[in-house]
Amino acid sequence: MLCCPHKDKKFSQGDKKQETLRFWEEVSIMDEKNIPIRTYQVCNVLEPSQNNWLRTDWIPRSGAQRVYVEVKFTLRDCNSLPGVTGTCKETFNLYYHESNEDRESYIKESSFIKVDTVAADESFTQVDVGDRIMKLNTEVRDVKVTTKKGFYLAFQDVGACIALVSVRVFYKTCPLTIRNLATFPDTVTGADTSSLVEVRGSCVNRSEEREEPKMYCGADGEWLVPIGGCFCSPGYEERGGACKACTAGFYKARSVDPACAKCPPHSYSLRDGATVCDCHTGYFRADSDPASMSCTQPPSAPQQLISVVNETSVVLEWAPPRRLGGRSDAIYSVDRLGENPHLTHTRYTFTVHARNGVSRASGAGSAPSVSVSVTTNQAAPSPVSMIQVLDVTRHSLLLSWQQPDRPNGVILEYEVKFYEKDQKERSYRIMRTFSQTVDVTGLSPLTVYVFHVRARTAAGYGDFSSPFEFSTNSDPFPLIGEGVNSAFLLLRAAKNIYITYGAVQLIYSHSSLLSSLLSLLLPTGVKIYVDPFTYEDPDQAIHDFAKEIDVSSIHIEKVIGMGEFGEVCSGRLRLQGKREIYVAIKSLKAGYSDKQRRDFLSEASIMGQFDHPNIIRLEGVVTRCKPLMIITEYMENGSLDAFLRKHDGQFTVIQLVGMLRGIASGMKYLSDMNYVHRDLAARNILVNSNLVCKVSDFGLSRVLEDDPEAAYTARVGHIPIRWTAPEAITYRKFTTSSDVWSYGIVMWEVVSYGERPYWDMNNQDVMKAVEEGYRLPAPMDCPVVLHQLMLDCWERERAERPSFSQILNMLDKLIRNPGTLRRTGGDRYILPIPTGTMLESGLGSEVCVSVVPEACVPEWSVYEWLQSIGLEIYRETFAAAGYNNLESLLALTHQ
Ligand code: AMP
Repeated sequence: MLCCPHKDKKFSQGDKKQETLRFWEEVSIMDEKNIPIRTYQVCNVLEPSQNNWLRTDWIPRSGAQRVYVEVKFTLRDCNSLPGVTGTCKETFNLYYHESNEDRESYIKESSFIKVDTVAADESFTQVDVGDRIMKLNTEVRDVKVTTKKGFYLAFQDVGACIALVSVRVFYKTCPLTIRNLATFPDTVTGADTSSLVEVRGSCVNRSEEREEPKMYCGADGEWLVPIGGCFCSPGYEERGGACKACTAGFYKARSVDPACAKCPPHSYSLRDGATVCDCHTGYFRADSDPASMSCTQPPSAPQQLISVVNETSVVLEWAPPRRLGGRSDAIYSVDRLGENPHLTHTRYTFTVHARNGVSRASGAGSAPSVSVSVTTNQAAPSPVSMIQVLDVTRHSLLLSWQQPDRPNGVILEYEVKFYEKDQKERSYRIMRTFSQTVDVTGLSPLTVYVFHVRARTAAGYGDFSSPFEFSTNSDPFPLIGEGVNSAFLLLRAAKNIYITYGAVQLIYSHSSLLSSLLSLLLPTGVKIYVDPFTYEDPDQAIHDFAKEIDVSSIHIEKVIGMGEFGEVCSGRLRLQGKREIYVAIKSLKAGYSDKQRRDFLSEASIMGQFDHPNIIRLEGVVTRCKPLMIITEYMENGSLDAFLRKHDGQFTVIQLVGMLRGIASGMKYLSDMNYVHRDLAARNILVNSNLVCKVSDFGLSRVLEDDPEAAYTARVGHIPIRWTAPEAITYRKFTTSSDVWSYGIVMWEVVSYGERPYWDMNNQDVMKAVEEGYRLPAPMDCPVVLHQLMLDCWERERAERPSFSQILNMLDKLIRNPGTLRRTGGDRYILPIPTGTMLESGLGSEVCVSVVPEACVPEWSVYEWLQSIGLEIYRETFAAAGYNNLESLLALTHQ
């Protein structure tokens, strides 16, 4: 593929002996298998100021935006060349020049752009023509080519002894694939190493669009984030990524149905691809019946027809037909035979017919029926006069009663109606019995029930008895502690106080009364976060939770950032009797409203309630003079996301896990206090000079707090979509479990050194992808256990996500057994071999291999490590036990 050596006159020609080549020359040599190969060689190591160029033919770009150049070459070690001085070099330079012309005869040196200086990565090997020893170096460089139709490559020698064996130029594509029943074409990757190419898919044969299918082609040739997809058409189902016809005996009625289903009972399909099954003979389907329903039959006749006569009116009651034909839509019609029903003592015959949804489809004549004859003006039985209790338990009552004084015929049965007294007759139960007792079971303990009984003869039901009330027995009482009782009494007395412990919501006007009440109610040591917005007076909250600092003890030095309310500066604070410390100072810019003042100070009122090594510490506030200030401890390395981006790839896995451990510990503390952060993200974690991570930014909670309008106003824009759990986005269910979701995203940010979650996808696509079950893949070199922990944090069901306490335990275990962190995704990180489309081919085929890090031994001292995980108090213990360096810690067991 290489074109002839540069014939520019200004390059000297030398003799053609191997050791003294004066310019690039085409030379045949034997490779290690003794097969002749052509190489380009140059070896002008004795003379200074070499500038020998070798240029390729024009290479068409063919749509590629980033091309990879793999160069195989051998290079002689200058030391191995006898008698060479400082003129000998051990590198060469790779250049490119973009051009629309495929036959540029002369290209100026200055129009080439340098890609890189290439050196041998193997120990130098000697190209010995006599012995034919030849080992190759392989180097790959990539370059963005977007401006012209093609390009030239050039190799500049500046005095090395070098043989170019092959140059292979290729670009990467995401290979043609089928995902969610949509075909995505072979797609050339983007121009930049981090760019994603959005690709629309098209539905496979026999399928229809469910939601526009979309995927992103990543720079390494792997497909990312499938969204949307297609459904197989009616009569077809998905098998192996294609839509295949339902076989005989199966059917699929709608495209949304997931798969072909067996024909429902009493139906069949004889041909492939059925969208509905036909009914067996004698069975039918109504027009409105879904295809999934069994074929059914008309009902049999109604049963047990009972007439209840009240002077000149008759009430008919019957039981449903014995055979409903497999349906629940039976309807009844009544025919009467006889004279005018308003006349007394007249005999009538009533016929009740049963029909259902397929009675008409069956084509049967008249509907099956049952008849009864009655004589009007026959008296019903008189009411039961007395009900007694024979036995009572916590869940049952055994009742008995006497026959009515005037039965007016043979009593056929009694009906008992009862309900809880508190419920009135809103919900009642009915029991029927032939005897004069009934055991009523399934009742609630210590509950009063009301009972009525009535009798039925051939003339129908008599009136109900008057109500009788009986109570079930009670459950044994639990004992309530005196302290709690008195606390509840106090609570009732105190105006304006509502407490729900568990889902803590506190509304009160006097905090000290509240704390004393809580100390009675809660187990010792449980501290609960108090929302400063529940204070009627915000200054009272600040007073309760933050220390007022005299402005004269603060020395402001420089601006370090920009916050929501104004500048953030660093400086020093010297409090009386204490040593000077570095602090961060947030100030509220002039011209603020009451609301802004309250919002600004609320962050301090929240922060001031926390005391934990992984939560940013509040030193105090300045509220007595302007500008208002919030003073916190100073975190030398600023926010975690920017810090990681700045130190990309520079930490060991244990160091990253140490950071995550700190964040989890801080979050566990917050969740134990019932505080929900709502905006946990790497940008809101601050890092100090010892790499200790602390949770900060306690602002967002107030923005979303209990505002039913928030979802419909601009405020919804305040939800950080990429970091927020689906239930919190959809119906604003913010809980510790939604913080756990965000923690999983922070884990991903940390392991990927500050990569943006879901890259440059838009929020809408992120929400859709997450809703459809997509989860961020493991970042490069991410230990499998960490990615699994992330996936656990991203469980759709929030109850299934781990607690911060479980996360902390897990991370502690990993830190104790660093071996478990060594397994990265293995095969998963061997990128799907992109179709490295060869523009020109040299040797072999392309293989991409993952980079598995060496053993993760951190470079810290034992003390630094203990400090980073908040366990520095054990420094002496570790030293006494002989753990003096981190390597010795690798052998640390649980004991
Ligand atoms: P915030 O208003 O808390 O988001 O702060 C804005 C920026 O100021 C942050 O992104 C940090 O870079 C910086 N910053 C805030 N607090 C501190 C701190 N305690 N120590 C160091 N830098 C801080």
